[in-house]
Amino acid sequence: MKHHRTEELADLATGMFEDIRALSRDAAGVSRPAFSSIETETLDYLATRARAEGLCVTEDTGRNLLFSLPEHKNSDSFTIIGSHVDSVPMGGNYDGLAGVIAGLIVLIAARRGRRHLSRPVKVLAMRGEESAWFGACYIGSKLLTGTLPEGEFNAAHKGDGRPLRAHLEDLGIDIVPVKAHRPLCDLSRIEAYLELHIEQGPLLVERNIPAAVVTGIRGNFRYRDSRCIGQAGHSGAVPRAYRHDPVLAFAELMHRLDGTWQHLLNTGQDLVLTSGVVGTDPTRHAIARIPDEIGFSLDIRSQDTETLDRMRAYLKGEMADIARSRGVRFELGPEVAVAPALMDPKLVAKLETAMEKVTGEAFSMASGGGHDAAIFAQAGVPSGMVFVRNRNGSHNPDEAMEIADFMVGVDILSTFLEASR
Ligand SMILES: [Zn+2]
Repeated sequence: MKHHRTEELADLATGMFEDIRALSRDAAGVSRPAFSSIETETLDYLATRARAEGLCVTEDTGRNLLFSLPEHKNSDSFTIIGSHVDSVPMGGNYDGLAGVIAGLIVLIAARRGRRHLSRPVKVLAMRGEESAWFGACYIGSKLLTGTLPEGEFNAAHKGDGRPLRAHLEDLGIDIVPVKAHRPLCDLSRIEAYLELHIEQGPLLVERNIPAAVVTGIRGNFRYRDSRCIGQAGHSGAVPRAYRHDPVLAFAELMHRLDGTWQHLLNTGQDLVLTSGVVGTDPTRHAIARIPDEIGFSLDIRSQDTETLDRMRAYLKGEMADIARSRGVRFELGPEVAVAPALMDPKLVAKLETAMEKVTGEAFSMASGGGHDAAIFAQAGVPSGMVFVRNRNGSHNPDEAMEIADFMVGVDILSTFLEASR
């Protein structure tokens, strides 16, 4: 019997995913630009489906939608299940949308008397999370929490070049409180913020686990434009002892960082690091020339602020050491940093208990990508996340989430909400 009911809700979710895929289809995958009419159509579609199920639908002053059971419409405090409905250009259908539809399925299951909600729940369908459109990310949740930086307010749209401010005004969003950094929602009324999201890495596929509880969202520090400067020379004529080769200096640096990374993992710490852009100057480099300069980027992430601070100090120390021994100079360039966001330990524990009930075994992991949950956590709202297994990463048309895995994630949320308090 239970199996049959789950299938009915799974079919409902599949229908919603496919309808929204159809209304936002692009040359490849889907495109739901932040603060666009397609985003509004997506929200309108969800509102229609929710009303048909007897749910209440309200719009907030950021023009996000809130869904609830009728009896919880005017609750003073509530748990939010939220995520975003926008996507990257030609992206996948599940990044963001899965979290919103998961919340709706939780409410529909409760509305149909299948599940019980021990506390009032509101499902929040947000606009504007993806940085692909304005360069800034989490705009919707930054508006709600009053944390949108001044610069991002004027960020130009990648397509039409108009500032975010103008796009918000087009939608009728009052920009006075936004400019004054006033939250668009009353954060003190939110008991907890929960978000289901597809996993964007390969861990759950590799380990054959349908879902996971997220322990924290990695922060990072990044250098977009670093350089190592040495001395040019003839590749055949300059003996090793007289070389100041920046490529070998960079290679040594990466080798040392990689070794320390493995060491940190061996001692149970969380870290990922990437140098995604590397190159000598294409107008001057040649096969027979020792280059005088190499440019590179560095992106170092961890859930733990202390680990990030230690890595930053280690990086600078190793650079100084290699610079001395090889007679080169490193210039890191401007740093951009984002603080890690820990999920609330009590929520993590309760979600793990819920997962154990659903799948027989709890599994927890860090989130490598950023999510709206980080913004709520940083604003002081106890936050928790559930990941759902997904093949091929996200931000591309090949995202592949199985609906059965999605329903495991939904079941974890419902089980958590039945049990809490
Ligand atoms: Zn997302």
